[in-house]
Amino acid sequence: MLSNQLSSPPHYGLPRQVTFCKKCVIPNTRPTASNEYTHHHARGHDYISFDADGVCSACRFCEAKFDGTIDWLKRENELISLLDRHRSRDGLYDCLVPGSGGKDSIYASHILKEKYGMHPLTVTWAPHLYTDIGWKNFQNWIHIGGFDNYLFTPNGEVHRLLTRNAFLNLLHPFQPFILGQKTFAIKMAARFGIPLVFYGPSPGENGGNTPITQNKYIFTDAQQASYKSAGFRLDYIDDTANYDQIYLGGKKVADYLKEGVLEGSLSPYLPLDPRITREKNIEFHFLGYYLKWVPQECYYYSAEHAGFEANPMRSEGTYSKYSSLDDKIDGFFYYTTYIKFGYGRATQDAAQEIRHRHITREEGVALVNRFDGEFPQKYFKEFLEYIDVSEEKFWQTVDEFRDDSLWKKERDSWVLRHKVAL
Ligand SMILES: [Zn+2]
Repeated sequence: MLSNQLSSPPHYGLPRQVTFCKKCVIPNTRPTASNEYTHHHARGHDYISFDADGVCSACRFCEAKFDGTIDWLKRENELISLLDRHRSRDGLYDCLVPGSGGKDSIYASHILKEKYGMHPLTVTWAPHLYTDIGWKNFQNWIHIGGFDNYLFTPNGEVHRLLTRNAFLNLLHPFQPFILGQKTFAIKMAARFGIPLVFYGPSPGENGGNTPITQNKYIFTDAQQASYKSAGFRLDYIDDTANYDQIYLGGKKVADYLKEGVLEGSLSPYLPLDPRITREKNIEFHFLGYYLKWVPQECYYYSAEHAGFEANPMRSEGTYSKYSSLDDKIDGFFYYTTYIKFGYGRATQDAAQEIRHRHITREEGVALVNRFDGEFPQKYFKEFLEYIDVSEEKFWQTVDEFRDDSLWKKERDSWVLRHKVAL
């Protein structure tokens, strides 16, 4: 059953020297956002870039949002002319907003509808295991926010198998969700013939490779070629349906098929032929390019307009209450990131809030030291049952993925070699 384990120890191309951004708290071991779904794979890793002053690209990206570099009025006018070209007169769907019913997707869909007179179709790839608050927020998005929505729930048996493999092979239990979610929006846009898809913030906002001047995903042949040469067969647009080269959960699609998993059951996770998006002229825009994206303001907006509720309790591993709430497996995504890359959920939250000037770096460092790496105990039992792994096997797998450059053992416990400091 475990024959699909990686044979060599993983290092994911981690940087040789760990450093932390001088302005926020993010380390240079953060994978670029564009590789979030493929990362944790052994080859071809990309990490956030730092400039000569030791400041990360995400901080520079956010500075530009506030320091006058960007003419927001001009950008909004660009949005209005884009929407004017697409707005339907008869109320038929004219754009598509994928999302979970969290603060970002509520904000995007609602402002497009109410302020700009669009008719968004919303589409949702279900979490592995809905939390109560996640289900309630999702329902409120539709019923209070007022949207049509397609909720897709993948075959539970297949999704569990992929999640289990992704945990054991990549220590990335969220990979099947991320892949499915990415491809789902595009497939639905193609199916409904909706030429305009809106994502929330640009990937550059969190350290991706997208510059502040880029308003949409651009799927060039050169980009395709670079993905391929880096060994990423998992990108959600790939015109080679070669099942010997596409991996799900670290295992070849061809091998799943040999073991009797049906191609149809895997199809929700497989890439879409980019020729389809080209033929239908579907464009994928970042709303955050056109409108100044401030996560905390999205939260207030979605609470006011669509009944969005934060958790009464902070999420384990961090201090925040309003992001990534809907899946019981969320906590394990952040925890496994902490094991592999040496930073956890509190680091991501604090970095984002420092960049948006809600907290100081000093406060961020204190929050990281207090909460980062806290184990997601609350849903541990359910998670183990879901992936059908014993507690012993869980810890054994976690330890296999600790890289020596990040971790050392002191007495009987693992400690990080590098911690963020003032
Ligand atoms: Zn930074």
